[in-house]
Amino acid sequence: MAKSPYSLKVGRVYIHKKCKQGTQVNGADFEGLCNPFKLCLGTVCASCGGPRGLKTFYWEDTKEPLDVYRKRLRTKVPAIYTYWWLWISPLIGLIVGSFLGPLFLKKSTLPVVAGSAVAGTLIMFLIVGPQVLMLVAPKKYYKLR
Ligand SMILES: [Zn+2]
Repeated sequence: MAKSPYSLKVGRVYIHKKCKQGTQVNGADFEGLCNPFKLCLGTVCASCGGPRGLKTFYWEDTKEPLDVYRKRLRTKVPAIYTYWWLWISPLIGLIVGSFLGPLFLKKSTLPVVAGSAVAGTLIMFLIVGPQVLMLVAPKKYYKLR
């Protein structure tokens, strides 16, 4: 019998490999931690602090390391999600940034263009890209095992 999906309110417990202590994660933290298109390099341990790398934690119930879990979730949705997140959205940021930056700063020297391009890329990759994915194809990643 299939196990019931997780709820945002109750959350899920992950274990810190080093100290073997569990941490209950729920709410927005849980949602963010499970969304494989949101950059998340680490999380905290309720007993010894952090943040520490995701690979130093694993889910208590499935024993799957958090970094492996997030990578696996990416394969559970259409490949276009990953293309959009890794390539298309940052590329749009790069192009738009390199145009808009010089326009706003009224300077089109190379450092301004390059800096704006980098800023545009980062904004798209970290914020807008994942947000758009949730808007066009909302998926409750945290419910997946
Ligand atoms: Zn710990």
